[in-house]
Amino acid sequence: MTDQTGLQAPGLVPGACDLPWYRRAFAQGAGYILPSCVFAFIPIAYAWDAGPALVTLVTLNCLAIVAFFIGSTLVMHWPEYGRWLWLAGLIGAILVLGVFPESRPLYFAPFVTCAAVTLIAWRHALIVVIATTVIGIGFSLLRGDLFGVVMVLMGLAIALTVGIGIRYDAARAALRKAEERTAVLAVAAERERIGRDLHDILGHSLTTIAVKADLAQRLASRDPDATAVQIGEIAAIARQSLKDVRATAAGMREVRLASEIAAARSVLTAAGIECRAPVALPVIGDADSELLGYAVREAVTNVVRHSRATSCTIEADAGHVTVTDDGRGFTGARDGSGLAGLRSRVEQAGGTFDVRASSNGTVLSVRLAVRTPEGAR
Ligand code: ADP
Ligand code: CA
Repeated sequence: MTDQTGLQAPGLVPGACDLPWYRRAFAQGAGYILPSCVFAFIPIAYAWDAGPALVTLVTLNCLAIVAFFIGSTLVMHWPEYGRWLWLAGLIGAILVLGVFPESRPLYFAPFVTCAAVTLIAWRHALIVVIATTVIGIGFSLLRGDLFGVVMVLMGLAIALTVGIGIRYDAARAALRKAEERTAVLAVAAERERIGRDLHDILGHSLTTIAVKADLAQRLASRDPDATAVQIGEIAAIARQSLKDVRATAAGMREVRLASEIAAARSVLTAAGIECRAPVALPVIGDADSELLGYAVREAVTNVVRHSRATSCTIEADAGHVTVTDDGRGFTGARDGSGLAGLRSRVEQAGGTFDVRASSNGTVLSVRLAVRTPEGAR
């Protein structure tokens, strides 16, 4: 029963509802709220002298309050109205406690505010928190109960701390997602640029060549001199186009991790090797991206040429790449020129390089030196 339409519970931990109930409770904050359940002994202590019947009733009531409070960590994935009902159940159980003499229900104000900020949307929770605080302080002052005022204020402080913490985490997660999306878009933009450049250069000159070749064909039988002029021009355009393509290709050869991963995917697939590679990358500085890109290029070339693998996995983040294949395994005690070149590039940049046979193929990994912000390129 996941909430598709209403607002999500702020305390919901994605994936937690697949866990067994006790692990779900701890994943969603039971560890923090369990100790506060000792407050349930306060009303029982106040009722102690009033006879066993009242003690039993108050104890049952306090158990219900505790069950609603701890249970709030288990209902985070419920639809919004279900979570509201749960919160209402908690508030109801606390109000019932007020029926008993000297029971001090307001001491449970922190339960209400804490459950509110984790169960329901922040703007609604704020209303509950403020209402609880105002009503709680009012009643406590009327009864001359200063400890009650302290408890209600504690509830306000806990709710603000928990609520703001949850909102801060959510904002950070959203930022991370946005960065990943930007990285995917960067790969797409790079491909688009290459496609556009090729189209612009070749589209124009090939059209010109086709038109002039048609003309030369028509002139061939009647006017050999004019035909020769046209053929000369065709040759000149073809040479110029070749130059332009080389220049574009040189621009394309600028190595970047994202474009190398895209290229790796296509060469591995063309070679019949299943490829698993990240679709999103974090934002990486040019120098690091170039070095990691070279590592992917060399490793993947080797997988295609030497490994006889059926699948290849590329893992990458801002500071490292690992390329794993399931082939015959790296045996070369001597590095060939490709690996030796990569090793020296990486080591010159202060990083570490490793290539070895695994139980099931070859693993190549490159890890870059951690940069201080001042040293970052
Ligand atoms: P080259 O590619 O020019 O042979 P390299 O430095 O790239 O030189 O690789 C050295 C040798 O290591 C290769 O000749 C090959 O025998 C072995 N090797 C490299 N990568 C792999 C791999 N993924 N699986 C199996 N053997 C590999
Ligand atoms: Ca090689």
